[in-house]
Amino acid sequence: MAFRRHPKRPRGDATLPLFAELAANNQATPRPCRHRPRHADPSAYKQVRAELEGEWKLPLRDVEDLAEAAHREGALEFPFLSPVLFAATLGYAADPYDGGGCGVTGLSPYILHCRRSADVLRWNLRVLHELAHALLRRWREAREGREYTHADVWGLTLMLAVPRSALKLIDLARHVPQYALKLRGQLARAVRAAA
Ligand SMILES: [Zn+2]
Repeated sequence: MAFRRHPKRPRGDATLPLFAELAANNQATPRPCRHRPRHADPSAYKQVRAELEGEWKLPLRDVEDLAEAAHREGALEFPFLSPVLFAATLGYAADPYDGGGCGVTGLSPYILHCRRSADVLRWNLRVLHELAHALLRRWREAREGREYTHADVWGLTLMLAVPRSALKLIDLARHVPQYALKLRGQLARAVRAAA
């Protein structure tokens, strides 16, 4: 029998290959090779980890619920598509700008002012971070001023990158830097431990 180069997909397992295909199409940079550490960019990793180790005002589980609700509202077929598209499904437009820090509000609460980046993965993470700022602002307004911190914002950023319902697919995620995925995994363990 001739060698079959493209075997048929097994029945009942259509979802995962579709996700894998979408992930491959969305892959902005090649997968890290064995000569590079998987979680490259140690300074960014340490910086975000330090943010997460700051004071949280909200229970981890509530922040994870918020990310889950945003993904339900966005209703994307695949959770790891472009964060710009994800934000758009929620009514937010990402605007590249050079004005400085994060959490900046401008003419409209539905415009996310995201610092430019030459690197698409870092840009994607910045879009999710600004989306987290915007969603928590909206959340605070709906709850009469209940406060949150920048640790909460970073937690939500990572949970928006990989919502709870997609944690089992985290190895397919290619839309944010690897260090962010590593931190998301750590957060997931922290949520389970706090339950
Ligand atoms: Zn911020």
